[in-house]
Amino acid sequence: MKPNYSLATTLAYQTLIYNNISLPIDPYKIKLQNTKIKILSMQDFSQRFNVPLEEMTQNGSCDEGYNIVQVKNGIKQATILYNEDIVSNERKRFTIAHEIGHIVLGHTEHSINNEKEADTFASQLLLPHCLLEQLVKFGKAVSESYLKEKFGLSNEAAHISKLHVGKKINANAVNDLEDIILTMYKDFIDTETYNTKYRYYEEDEEMESIRNNWY
Ligand SMILES: [Zn+2]
Repeated sequence: MKPNYSLATTLAYQTLIYNNISLPIDPYKIKLQNTKIKILSMQDFSQRFNVPLEEMTQNGSCDEGYNIVQVKNGIKQATILYNEDIVSNERKRFTIAHEIGHIVLGHTEHSINNEKEADTFASQLLLPHCLLEQLVKFGKAVSESYLKEKFGLSNEAAHISKLHVGKKINANAVNDLEDIILTMYKDFIDTETYNTKYRYYEEDEEMESIRNNWY
């Protein structure tokens, strides 16, 4: 079995649309339709419930983050535990988004495919690839430092996102959601590409066709 990238993308886009959230995406604020999420650092949990940190990270084998899903009184509740010691904030944000991905995708076990799907979910949640594609199309220079500043991506995540430019997922469900995502972030795209040459070019062309209709 291959990882289901289009499902991971569909779920990430649906989550963004459901949250109607502005950029940069704050994964700590993401709400899910039928699951309550609680986000806690392992250090905090360890102190509050008197569990040794080594036990929580399973002696370092789960040292970035994981989640626990329980059903209480018919309500699905998920707790995400992340390691406060992760060096960069960008990496922490990615870890939280990755764990939200596992929850939304309903993963119950650790496998390479599940990790790839959760990474895809996180990448698409923090910076929808269709949005990145649109910025590039309009001539925006999307350096890794730009992606870090505007979307809160780590260098690694920014690099991975850039690899996706030009690789379209051809799935109807994804394509329909892309249109909604691009409409949702239209103001952002317009502001970011306001003075790029391709943007002007497109607008000039548009103006020209309007003018041609006048005469
Ligand atoms: Zn994982």
